Amino acid sequence: MTETIHDAVIVGAGFGGIGAAIQLRRLGHDDLVVLERESDLGGTWHVNRYPGLAVDIPSSTYSYSFEPNPYWSRLYAPGAELKAYATHVAEKYDVRRHMRFDTVVDGAVWDDGKHWTVNIAGGERLHARLLLTATGFLSQPAFPAIEGIDTFAGTVIHTTRWDDSIDLDGRRAAVIGTGATAVQLIPEIAPRLAELTVYQRTAIWVTPKGDRAIPQGVQKLYARVPLAQRAVRTIGSGILELIMVAGVLKYRRAKLLNRSVEKLALRHLARQVKDPETRRKLTPDYTFGCKRPTFSNTYFPTFNRANVHLETTPIARIEPDGIVTEDGTKTEIDTLVLATGFNLWDTNFPAFEVIGRGGKDLGKFWREQQFQAYEGVAVPGFPNFVSLNSPYSYSGLSYFTTIESQMKHLKRLLREVDRRGAATFEITERANAEFLDRMTDRLEDSVFVNGSCATSRSYYFNQHGMATLLRPTSTINAFREAGSFPLDDYSYA
Ligand code: NAP
Repeated sequence: MTETIHDAVIVGAGFGGIGAAIQLRRLGHDDLVVLERESDLGGTWHVNRYPGLAVDIPSSTYSYSFEPNPYWSRLYAPGAELKAYATHVAEKYDVRRHMRFDTVVDGAVWDDGKHWTVNIAGGERLHARLLLTATGFLSQPAFPAIEGIDTFAGTVIHTTRWDDSIDLDGRRAAVIGTGATAVQLIPEIAPRLAELTVYQRTAIWVTPKGDRAIPQGVQKLYARVPLAQRAVRTIGSGILELIMVAGVLKYRRAKLLNRSVEKLALRHLARQVKDPETRRKLTPDYTFGCKRPTFSNTYFPTFNRANVHLETTPIARIEPDGIVTEDGTKTEIDTLVLATGFNLWDTNFPAFEVIGRGGKDLGKFWREQQFQAYEGVAVPGFPNFVSLNSPYSYSGLSYFTTIESQMKHLKRLLREVDRRGAATFEITERANAEFLDRMTDRLEDSVFVNGSCATSRSYYFNQHGMATLLRPTSTINAFREAGSFPLDDYSYA
């Protein structure tokens, strides 16, 4: 019996995978399979359900440009609306029927020079001419290796596995972590708890969040006159671009923006937190931009509550009924919330084993020879492979900028493959090396190199101490190159 060889397998049914599937269908590839380890689509917006979850990029910008949603209820929509939007887009563009849920990919191998074999947990294998990975950046939850954590006898909840059936009322809880997730979660749960101790290792920069409900009249206007919402999107994208280019990428020449935002954040803190010692503890000691900042009007005031305590002494160990800090103090708790984020660099680049031409192992290559990917999508030695969550792929602040420039790259590349009647494509060593050199050079101007980042513990940096997550160019540059990269940067056969 001959085995079916699909046009493409896409791994991941979040916004990246949905965008890739839409683009492949537009290009005439209808024999697609989208594999998703979770029980439904939506990626991060399916997995994350913790109280307070909302987007913190304005929603008119944090959405596909070709599918505006006039009905966002707020400037920064709640998480459930993002999940509903993902479902709407997948159904409207008819890509949901290609998806298979609860399907965990163990690995993929480039076989016999012609197609990929994708190994699924349980033993099934799929074959495809094209493999696209859209497995996200923040998709492998990090569980802290704290001594004794396994002995804790109470309830343990990681924020990516929120369980609404757990009644938090009257509990004595601890939250470990003060990243963007904790900043949204803590104000929501604090009033319900008897006691809450927040364990902070690194303070986070928090600026005010200009959030507000979008009146129904405005929603109707957006529905009737899409141009009005497009104008709002353009303004939002422009502001994000300015922050990214001036505050992050050109920091060496534009320190003023970072300093001004730091001042804004410190004034926000001073206005919102009464106790000077608590204020001191909540003040970051690294440059704004080294680490992902956050936006909230409710996080700081939570620390004025009598039932909320901020602990900055490092955790020594966890016992069955509490947390002991290095000064020997034990805080008794019955509920432990892990807002400890994600592991990017050890387990997520790539999210599963990918073996290319001649047995080349993508994970080993990245770790041993630097994290790199041409235009954030292609790696030499990996034919017919498009890695959407690669080093230097994240462009701009809204993830949709990245997704849409990658969709554009895909269109230019696959049209050329068709035009040549080729069976395979692969990025050349030369083009990849030139791109890597250019990105490495550009980083020299960034906050990551020129800011004071040593104490930030930022996931923008990989295990080699290099900030290889964000593409250090403007989004305009990323879009332009996606539509105009030299076609002979790839080889075709
Ligand atoms: P995160 O930013 O990585 O924060 C994890 C937190 O846990 C940090 O405060 C970290 O401390 C702490 N931590 C980890 N291991 C620890 C340990 N062993 N002991 C003590 N503390 C420990 O993760 P996140 O808050 O889940 O956010 C991840 C990203 O998701 C955000 O940066 C953002 O990009 C995205 N996000 C977006 C939204 C939104 O758009 N609305 C909302 C939430 C999250 P250190 O800082 O010291 O490492």
